[in-house]
Amino acid sequence: MSLEVLAIGELSFGYSKDTMLFENFSLSVHQGEIKAIVGPSGVGKSTLFELILGRSKPHKGTIKAASLSQVFQDPYSSFHPSYSIRDQIAEVTSMNECGELMEQMGLNEEHLNALPHKLSGGQLQRCSILRALLMKPKLLLLDEPTSALDNLNQLDIMKLIVSKLGGMGVLLITHDTSLAQWCADDIIRLG
Ligand code: ADP
Repeated sequence: MSLEVLAIGELSFGYSKDTMLFENFSLSVHQGEIKAIVGPSGVGKSTLFELILGRSKPHKGTIKAASLSQVFQDPYSSFHPSYSIRDQIAEVTSMNECGELMEQMGLNEEHLNALPHKLSGGQLQRCSILRALLMKPKLLLLDEPTSALDNLNQLDIMKLIVSKLGGMGVLLITHDTSLAQWCADDIIRLG
């Protein structure tokens, strides 16, 4: 059995006692596995990531996560506007093995040397995914990662992530059920 990279056990959480978003919610992700969380807006998908990242504390239950990196929906909020993309990736991970992955993602040196606002949303999101993969996480959290990409790029980028799975497990939030059906081993519907 492959290593468990995320274990959520009997989680309960709500921003107020009257509106609980999770009650006794359990979920596990193993290496080499993609699990998708789907559900309508407001059901608690982003809150689940906040809990996994430790930014909110569960009322009850346990969350154990291996080393992780994350990609958020809006790439412009994932990068500081005043520093080059290269500097911001180098700050968190080694760029020694960057070349091949960069090419596979349709990026080049010019993109990395640019300030974030010089790139399109799709280009910057690919930089965000590049950074997340270079960190070699055991757990990759993807919150609507492809909504900033055009249709053509969406599938290519997800295919690339799938090809890099190896020792990594992925938790994907998406409203795109066809994307979830295509790539996920398991789909968890909230709401
Ligand atoms: P989703 O990602 O599925 O759209 P969210 O996790 O963003 O849902 O939000 C779930 C619910 O919790 C929504 O009703 C939202 O208004 C509420 N909510 C989100 N963040 C906070 C917060 N920091 N304080 C209070 N309520 C919040």
